[in-house]
Amino acid sequence: MATYEAVIGLEVHVQLRTARKMFCRDLARFGDAPNTNVCPVCLGLPGALPVVNGDAVNLALRAAIALNCTIHEVSLFSRKNYFYPDLPKGYQISQFDRPLATGGHLDVPADDGGRPVRVRIRRLHLEEDAGKSLHDRLAGATAVDLNRAGVPLAEIVSEPDLRSPAQARAYLQLLKQLLEYAEVSDCNMEEGSLRVDANVSIREPAESELGVKTEVKNMNSFSGVEHALAFEIERQSAILDAGGTVVHETMLWDAGRQQARPMRSKEESHDYRYFPDPDLPPLVVSREQIEAVRIALPELPYARRERLRERYGLPALDAGVLTASRWVADYYEALVRLVPDAKAASNWVMGPVLQSVNDRKLALRDCEDFPVSAAALAELIGLVSDGTVSHSVGRDVFQKMLDTRRSASDIVTAGGLSQVRDSGQLAEWVEAVLAENPREVERYRAGEAKLLAHFMGQVMRKSRGKADPHQVTELLRERLA
Ligand code: ADP
Ligand code: MG
Repeated sequence: MATYEAVIGLEVHVQLRTARKMFCRDLARFGDAPNTNVCPVCLGLPGALPVVNGDAVNLALRAAIALNCTIHEVSLFSRKNYFYPDLPKGYQISQFDRPLATGGHLDVPADDGGRPVRVRIRRLHLEEDAGKSLHDRLAGATAVDLNRAGVPLAEIVSEPDLRSPAQARAYLQLLKQLLEYAEVSDCNMEEGSLRVDANVSIREPAESELGVKTEVKNMNSFSGVEHALAFEIERQSAILDAGGTVVHETMLWDAGRQQARPMRSKEESHDYRYFPDPDLPPLVVSREQIEAVRIALPELPYARRERLRERYGLPALDAGVLTASRWVADYYEALVRLVPDAKAASNWVMGPVLQSVNDRKLALRDCEDFPVSAAALAELIGLVSDGTVSHSVGRDVFQKMLDTRRSASDIVTAGGLSQVRDSGQLAEWVEAVLAENPREVERYRAGEAKLLAHFMGQVMRKSRGKADPHQVTELLRERLA
């Protein structure tokens, strides 16, 4: 197969984290009983009039600022007309030819650690979501839930500046991180708060014209996007290799089969009969409003990473890992206020905390959710640093804390886990181990110094991890000299 260059552009829909919908006062809450958050406006009943939700505008402004966009003081809402059961009005209100913001960029770290790739943001606009067709609620029938109809979205459209599925994924991760930090969206992918349409074409490496693209619609996982793009690149390559031409079409990703399937031939924007919504005046945002949003913007990932490095003297690696997600950074900063050794705190978060998040699929969406609060972990770190428990016992205690939500000192007291520093008891264990290993003792004395670790291990096992390792080392050295 010839190697082509892949060209990728992404359209990302994020649900803005407002309490209410885009054009009416219904709750925009996920998970309520079907069709309970609806009213004449989002049901599209005759005579009902939409009113813009100012919170949604402010959140979209935040995103536009975070993405370095030019914000337009006047933008327009249009009607995008199409028929679908989950779209009761028969049109979606969206911004079309005059979006809220254009011309931004996001710098994505390169695959190979080289210079970041600048991905230009073509536009960011406001729109409302459609309802949801549910195919698994009623046997043999499709049900419609309109709670989502009218929920505010920002659509963020990139220029075709990405060149590989891995790069597309890196862009999405960075975008999600930015939106979480800016508190624009909860970006909860399982709940569909962030959905991606991925556009991809291929071309000969030296070619400057773009090839014909296909678009894979509506994916809510980054690995799905990556796989779908790889699948499409391979499929398109096979077509060109066989002398064929790629058809401009819209596809659906079937994660079960790991296949993209054609959904429809590509619609053009004129198919949607866009026209300005006569019920909505132009959206006007003042320079003052934009500046107020800019000033109130929460600290963004890059700034936070640099601050963590400087303020707590952390290595770049630590600062990067700790700020990858806003919630981890919040957790770390809550912890480090209570723990004098910032690097020790970082080791605990980067190690046991993040490991348990991965292994147990625990949510660390906010510090409260996590079974071991920052204060509870700080107590445990204190017990390790003052020598009450050894580091390895500390790790076990942490696991118990995760399981039981009990405090570290409770678990240590109840389990009799305090480190043993009584020299009589330690000497007893050391003697027993040396008596059990006469041959190793001889070898050690003949010069095999590395056997010390072996004796250490034995003593630690005998003490069930409770012996104070420093004292044991000294005792062993003395007895073996
Ligand atoms: P459409 O009208 O089909 O929606 P647009 O030009 O509006 O296409 O672009 C939609 C998305 O597709 C953008 O993210 C853009 O970067 C990307 N895109 C456009 N042309 C191509 C192409 N030839 N190959 C890959 N991506 C493309
Ligand atoms: Mg499109």
